[in-house]
Amino acid sequence: MITGKNYIGNQLSAKGSKTYKTFNPQLNIENDSTYTEATSEEIDEAVALASEAFKVYRTISGKQKAEFLNTIADEILALDDALIKTYCSETGLPEGRAKGERGRTVGQLRMFANLIEEGSWVEATIDTALPNREPMPRSDIRKMLVPLGPIVVFGASNFPLAYSTAGGDTAAALASGCPVIVKSHPMHSGTGELVASAIVKAAEKTNMPNGVFSNINSSGIAVGTQLVKHSGVKAVGFTGSIKGGRALYNLAAQREEPIPVFAEMGSINPVVVLPEALKNRSGSLAKTYAGSITLGTGQFCTNPGLLLGLKSEGLSNFIENLSNEIINIEPSCMLHPNIIGAYENKKQKAISQSSLTVTADYDSEVQTNYARQAIATVEGKTFMENQTLHQEVFGPYSIVVQCENKGQLEAIISNLDGQLTGTLIADNNEASNYSKVISALQNRVGRIIYNGVPTGVEVCPSMVHGGPYPSSTDSRFTAVGIHSIKRWVRPFSYQDWPNDLLPIELKNENPLGVSRLVNKKQTSDKL
Ligand code: NAP
Repeated sequence: MITGKNYIGNQLSAKGSKTYKTFNPQLNIENDSTYTEATSEEIDEAVALASEAFKVYRTISGKQKAEFLNTIADEILALDDALIKTYCSETGLPEGRAKGERGRTVGQLRMFANLIEEGSWVEATIDTALPNREPMPRSDIRKMLVPLGPIVVFGASNFPLAYSTAGGDTAAALASGCPVIVKSHPMHSGTGELVASAIVKAAEKTNMPNGVFSNINSSGIAVGTQLVKHSGVKAVGFTGSIKGGRALYNLAAQREEPIPVFAEMGSINPVVVLPEALKNRSGSLAKTYAGSITLGTGQFCTNPGLLLGLKSEGLSNFIENLSNEIINIEPSCMLHPNIIGAYENKKQKAISQSSLTVTADYDSEVQTNYARQAIATVEGKTFMENQTLHQEVFGPYSIVVQCENKGQLEAIISNLDGQLTGTLIADNNEASNYSKVISALQNRVGRIIYNGVPTGVEVCPSMVHGGPYPSSTDSRFTAVGIHSIKRWVRPFSYQDWPNDLLPIELKNENPLGVSRLVNKKQTSDKL
């Protein structure tokens, strides 16, 4: 079923000579299938097809696009065991996680299908003409959101389904009316090809234009670079490292026509633990956090990599409890030898910094590609002065910072890089005594959590998954939930345009009954 070829539009294609294989980290062996990297010519073909497809796809009704998205979801489910087995063989992740992520992927597709079928997401805004206005008459002006054009999506290593081929970025872009070219992640190209086959089948079944979707294989940065520089590409979605995201952002900015790159990158997700909470539930908090730090072998962008508290007996007890709890958790497999290699290097670099104490470091034998979890602690002053300690260690590692006082806690938070999340652990009314700390935290993050853990991102309209740089390149947008569609559109106005030529959402009759802002009043009525 897996061919190792690229999908250039609806056609399988493998004109190149550069090949590679994926890797099974559980078995520590290469998988069987061989993948052919796309050639420069194939990339040009995919972009040309996407540009042609856009001419048609941008005009297709929300109802038809919704049918396309729902059919993709059906076809992904129809892949059944073949998809789950391939996913597990390319990631080392367990079957339960594969099925959970498939559920989320299908759910996201259906969520966008519902959104576009209903239609109000285009934010139709109408200001009717005032021909008798003095001193100047007013024209009839109508605005709505329209798609940008072909989008390149870089599949994420840590979410082979929910943030890759048919993941959140792809679902949102297709929903908005943009064709998508996926730069498949080389660590899970088999999973990528299977999902791509589901998308292509759905496109054919629902009569979508050829080129609405392509899936490109690569095993190095050349393919991604060409795609981002291509004049036919109008925006980029990316999930991965700060280094990778920033490189693509710079490339896009240097183009003759700069384009937006919506990159969701590293984050250490600070957690502030207040004294009363530590006094009352140090044991249970330690257990919960040992679980959150090691969840998915720490390979989540919302992994809590930084815990901050006020120096006290309560904090010392918590560090001891957390260290004991985390050592008792069975180590688990990482996604790929490169990922575990990066984890070991970054962990080593972090824990070898001066004035840092390692309070837990799993030192028993582990299977190859299994990660050894660790906890370290430092004084607030040391943390403030050493930027290395602020860097993401992607994996099951966290550092606990012992602050001298509230002022130092606030200063540390204020000087952190931008983060996806911040968490406050507090009891009773103690949060009200930390308003400056909370305000500082709010200013550095995209989502703030009270008495919970940052791992686990609910897919819902109110979710913000994004934050100040470098957690994302544009903190005005979320990468999760229905509002992520706004990354792929631009506002567009029609002035004095005849009613019969207007798009359906802006017509006087309002045939879809969408909610519109008409002469400053929100209504679903016709004009
Ligand atoms: P990555 O190195 O950022 O790569 C992600 C994708 O971007 C890959 O497909 C890669 O292509 C491409 N890419 C990277 N740099 C590029 C460049 N300069 N030009 C063009 N394309 C480029 O991330 P990764 O492979 O998923 O994992 C590596 C590390 O990233 C992890 O160890 C972790 O530290 C971090 N990471 C963080 C998160 C998070 O959510 N915070 C998520 C995933 C990974 P090729 O593979 O084809 O070269």
